Amino acid sequence: MKLTILGSSSALPTSERYPSAHVLNAHERLFLIDCGEGTQMQLRRNRIRFGKINHIFISHLHGDHIFGIYGLLSSLSLMGRKTPLHLYAPANYRRILFSHLEDFDIKLSFEIDFVPLSKNDPEQILDDKYLTVTAFPLDHRVPAFGFLFREKPADRNIIKEAIEKYNIPGVRIPAIKKGGDFTRDDGTVIQNSEITTSPPEPLSYAYCSDTKYFRRLASFVKGVTLLYHEATFDKSMDSLASITGHSTTSDAARTALEAEAGSLIIGHFSSRYKNPAVLVDEAREIFPLTYQAVDGKSYIVGDMDQA
Ligand SMILES: [Zn+2]
Ligand SMILES: [Zn+2]
Repeated sequence: MKLTILGSSSALPTSERYPSAHVLNAHERLFLIDCGEGTQMQLRRNRIRFGKINHIFISHLHGDHIFGIYGLLSSLSLMGRKTPLHLYAPANYRRILFSHLEDFDIKLSFEIDFVPLSKNDPEQILDDKYLTVTAFPLDHRVPAFGFLFREKPADRNIIKEAIEKYNIPGVRIPAIKKGGDFTRDDGTVIQNSEITTSPPEPLSYAYCSDTKYFRRLASFVKGVTLLYHEATFDKSMDSLASITGHSTTSDAARTALEAEAGSLIIGHFSSRYKNPAVLVDEAREIFPLTYQAVDGKSYIVGDMDQA
């Protein structure tokens, strides 16, 4: 899985930072998470193909997370898209979206499959061949949701030499890859562990923006490989963070620590920080494996050395 940050700014874009948008590439399928203003320009700049995006996840209805969607939908239509687009967003967005399309006389060339988010508990919203996606509630000024992308365990790897040694017919291999033992014609059973090796651990990515700190959040993303958590403010701005429903660097790092996350990326930086590196330094005091979200940068989930 590869994550590309398209925007790392909070409310006000800066000359270096666009508002929130992430693209997760999982097995060559692209998932767009939030769609702040300028997302389609950032997609072009980073050579990400619009047509490969079939799922868009909107965390909440604040402009810095959604103002880019109207332009993107319009462009997809102008490009002649036919494939349905799955859109996951707070339930009340359905009315706003379709009313907007009608008001602006936009007749899309494709269907929108709108999936409403409204639950107070984690809810699985997507389940396909390779992964599941779960939406979970955040604590913000308006209903807001985080998203957890979790790979499904891959099949076991069959050992080539074992195929020859036990003369395993091809037709039996799929069941063995799923963990089954191999029974020979004479009735002897070869244990699965003798003829296969374990696949790599499934990876996961969680997106948490916007939210203030709350204890339950860590349990929603427990053990996640890579956690993205907003850190709008430095730790001295605790009270402003609380009033505005946002997190400080300490809040983000604390959640990563409590969740036992593999690594943490912080973003959604207030425009008052010219250089967010100071925020990363603060977070690292609590959670050393913290990285800065940088517009246009890609990160390999589970291998941040390649970041
Ligand atoms: Zn925001
Ligand atoms: Zn917000």
